[in-house]
Order: sequence, then structure tokens, then C-alpha cells
Amino acid sequence: MSISEWSTASAIRGTVAKGEASCVESARFFLDRVSKLNPSLNAILTITEERAMATATTLDKSKAKGKALPPLAGVPVVVKDNLCTKGQKTTCGSRMLADWTAPYDATVVERLEAAGALMVGKANMDEFAMGSSGETSAFGPALNPWNRKMVPGGSSSGSASAVSAGMATLALGSDTGGSVKQPAAFCGLVGLRPTYGRVSRYGLVAFASSLDQVGPLARNADDCALLFSAISGEDPRDSTCLKLPPESQRLEPLDVKKLRVGLLAEQIGKGVAPAVREGVLKAAAILENGGAMVSEVSLPHASYALAAYYVIAPAECSANLARYDGVRYGFSPGGPDSGERAEASRSAGFGEEVKRRILAGTFVLSAGYRDAFYNKALFARQAITRDFENAFKEVDILLGPATPGPAFPIGERSGDPMRMYLCDVFTIPPNLGGFPSLSFPCGFASDGLPVGAQISGRRLGEPLLLQTAKFIEERLCLLERHPS
Ligand code: GLN
Repeated sequence: MSISEWSTASAIRGTVAKGEASCVESARFFLDRVSKLNPSLNAILTITEERAMATATTLDKSKAKGKALPPLAGVPVVVKDNLCTKGQKTTCGSRMLADWTAPYDATVVERLEAAGALMVGKANMDEFAMGSSGETSAFGPALNPWNRKMVPGGSSSGSASAVSAGMATLALGSDTGGSVKQPAAFCGLVGLRPTYGRVSRYGLVAFASSLDQVGPLARNADDCALLFSAISGEDPRDSTCLKLPPESQRLEPLDVKKLRVGLLAEQIGKGVAPAVREGVLKAAAILENGGAMVSEVSLPHASYALAAYYVIAPAECSANLARYDGVRYGFSPGGPDSGERAEASRSAGFGEEVKRRILAGTFVLSAGYRDAFYNKALFARQAITRDFENAFKEVDILLGPATPGPAFPIGERSGDPMRMYLCDVFTIPPNLGGFPSLSFPCGFASDGLPVGAQISGRRLGEPLLLQTAKFIEERLCLLERHPS
């Protein structure tokens, strides 16, 4: 069989189409790899073997009948555990939902399988997607395959760890403040945070509803585009989803001579690791050498983004997480009346970080503080959005770092929320404006850990971001390196 752990999605589909391997064989190969590697990486919380095998068998039968193969036929994928899957647990990395099984599939999960992908597992994550390292998971942290002493990033920690270790070819994550892009950067992957509204959130457990988006992770831009195409597009079950058809599967070549690139020079100054700075500048040079116009651009209000996000996201989460009361949902320790039961359920069911966010969110929304915190954060959000809109009058994409540095050691920041929050300083600004952004590998630090750059674009500008990432990827030639 010519499928390997590093095969691209289209190579796997091609192998299946030519009859050189069946979907069942592909499923078996990757499930074996999961059982070999997952015990040490802890990337996957629930291995969905039966479901992967059932999808694979159906695909093989339909191929035998002469039916056309869908675009992701036989391609293994892991799904972040805040996306509902019927019949398998959806824990959100929390004790609160440790035994909860969703009664339906998220739209993106349905679409994945309709596209022929084989769901091999539900991925570990920071609890309710709150975190930047995977360490707030109630089920222990996922590890970074490039160096197992390091975090894989978060909150889509298991999604990134699994794809970078070759346990799956593709993964779904969710990105509220950077949870697809930041782990992609830490694990040497391409991670796309789509335009707000481009992908259905039906069946995504809500964290901060004005920011949450589902996004794809892959080892290269083409694969990322294929997965994005499969999940994007209108969904009548999500009223925030834009009424647009799915994105096309194929990437047109980049018309680099027409591209105007804004280099976010302020973001590669002090406090940014040298390898990150070099990687971003190398990416800029590749575009410039290709004929793109590169100029320095500033986002005057971007320095308020982190503070604004850590008011807005907790405010929204304090409302969204009110539903976990030990009655409708959630871990229930019992108790004589509903008030006591809710208290006991929430005290024992939520971890430290989730409680911190709920408390902060309730505080910034409370009478007397709302103007000082929440409303001020909304003003900052507007100013930042305008900064991007102004920049996109002059340039087509903005280029900067995805994170200030490479992955850090497990335990280094888990006791220091502020240091943890700083991981998101570059990924948050485009999210606040609903703009699409993508992180892609742009080099390696001296200790061999990958580093990532971020590009952002106009709303619905995902194809340009993916084309640009592909153009750079073909010239940087980093893809042959894999974790050992
Ligand atoms: N790390 C950020 C946070 O903790 C972003 C999380 C996310 O995008 N889900 O809120």
C-alpha cells in the first residue's frame, strides 16, 4: 500500500481512486498509528474506530459500484472535542461534560464525512477552548511531537499534535482568539481561521459567540484548502452563517506580481524570538522577490487587542456557560435543591481557568463596571477593526508573526495566566474584526522547534491567504521535515 503517515490528502484520495489501497486499509493504517503514538502524546481523547471503519466500508462499497469518490475519500481526520458527534462523547476537555454524548452531529462533522473523510478520533483541547497550551484540559495535556517536553499550543492542542505526528492528515479546530493558528505555529502546520460566518457553527459548543469559528489544520496549504472547501458554506441551522456556497477545492496560482503585502513591522520588534523574526522576513522576501509590493504597515490600535479580547471573550463565556447547571447539562453531584446542585456541579465540574473567565466575565458585565470595562472593550474592538479596514485599502494582505516565540515547556506558564494570555497577542487582532487569517510554518528555532507566520486578509479573502501560503511553502521547502 502506498499510503504513508505523511501522505497528503489528495495523494491518499488518489491512491484510493486508483485502487492501490482501499478506504478500509487507510483507516486501519491510521488507527494503528493512533494506537501506537497516542498513549504517549495524549492528543486524542476518544478513538472513533467504529465510525471510521463504517465510513470507510461505505465508501469502498460505493466505489465498487462505480460511484465517483468524494474529494476527501479515505483521508483520516481528527475533530476537536468541542464539536458534537452523535454516538461519541463530546467532552470539551472538561470534567463537566466528561460523560456527555451529543444527540446530533455538528454540521462540519456531517460535511466531513459526506466528503469522504474518516473521523479517527476526538481531539484533546483546553477546557472549553480556554487556554493557549492544552494544559487546562481535564484529561491531561497533549504533547508536542517535535519535543514532548513542550506544549503543542492551544486550545486546539490535540488537533495540532495529531496532525503533526501523522496520526491524521487533517484536523478540525476552533479559533476564538487564536486556537487554530497558535497550535498550528507551535506544531509546524498550516492553520486557517476563516472569516466570521464562513463556516457553520451548528454543533460547536459555544465559548464566545461573537468570535468563535471552526477552522482547518493541515500539513500544507493545498490540504488546508481541501478541508476548508469541505466545511465552508451556508447552513440554515446556523443563523450567523453567511449565505454563500462552499469555497472551491482548488487553489488558483498566486498572481504574486499584483500582490500588495503590508508587513507588520511593529510585531517583529522587541520581545519576539529571533527565529520568528527571521521567518517572517524570509516570507516577506520570498513574496518581494516574486514581484509583490511589500511595504510596512501599522495598526495603531492593535496594542489594545489583547486587553479587549480578555474582556469580551470572558463576558460572552460567562453567559454561554450558564447552561451548565448539573440539570440540563453537566456533571451532577446531586444535592437537595437545584441551587445547591448547580453550585456543587459548577464548583467540581469546571477547572480553574474556566472559573477565572466566568468570574471575570460576570464582573465586567456587572452594573457599575459595564461602561468601564465591557463597553470600553467594544470601542477598542471597533477601532482595531477600522485599522484593518484602512490597511486593506492600501494592501491585500498583512504579514506578521503568528506567535512571539516557539512552543514553551509544559508547566512553564500554567501558573501565570498573564504570560499565557500573551501567546495570543498577534492572533487576536484579526479575529476581533472578523477577518480571515492563516498561520503557516516559516522556519525552525535553533532547538528544532517550528515557528509560524500569520497572514490576514479582507473578509472572504481565504483563497488569497491559502494561495500566498502555498507560494511561500513551495519556496521555503520546510515540508520534508517531520517530528521523529
Ligand atoms: N488562547 C485564547 C483563550 O484562551 C484563545 C482561545 C481560543 O481561540 N479558543 O481564550
